[in-house]
Amino acid sequence: MAEKVRALTKRQIETLKQKLIEEKNSLVFSDQVNASNIELSKPEGGDEVEQSITDYINSHLLRFRNREVFYVKKIEKALKKFDMDEYGLCSDCGEGIRFERLLARPTAEMCIQCKEESERDESNSFIGRQSKSLGKVSDLTGMMA
Ligand SMILES: [Zn+2]
Repeated sequence: MAEKVRALTKRQIETLKQKLIEEKNSLVFSDQVNASNIELSKPEGGDEVEQSITDYINSHLLRFRNREVFYVKKIEKALKKFDMDEYGLCSDCGEGIRFERLLARPTAEMCIQCKEESERDESNSFIGRQSKSLGKVSDLTGMMA
C-alpha cells in the first residue's frame, strides 16, 4: 500500500491554481470557448448532415480548437475544485494527489495509482472503459468521431 500523501500546503495550492489560470490564458481559443457551442457530432445516425459534420470536424483548425475546448473545460473543472476545497483529491479513491504530479499535470483528477489501474483496465477491456467512465468519455466522443 502506498504511503499516505500529505495534504497540499496553501502555498502549493496557490502555485497550482496560478499555473492553471496561466495555462488557460495561454490558450489561443479560450476566449471563444464560452461563446461557442461545440456539439458538432451526434453519436448515432449516419446521414448527410452527419457526414458533412464529420468532414468539418476533420479540418485541422477545428480539431485544434476542440482539443483546446476540451482542455479548457478540464482546467475550469479543476479551478472549480479549488472553490469547493476538493482540488488535489483523487476522484477515484479520494486520497491526496502528490504535489509533484499536480505540478506536472495540474488537471490530473486521479492519483497515480488509480490512474495506472484505470489504464490497465482500459487496455484489458474497451467495453469496460466505456461503461465505467461513460460520463467522462462522452465529452471526447464529439471530437474523436
Ligand atoms: Zn486514487
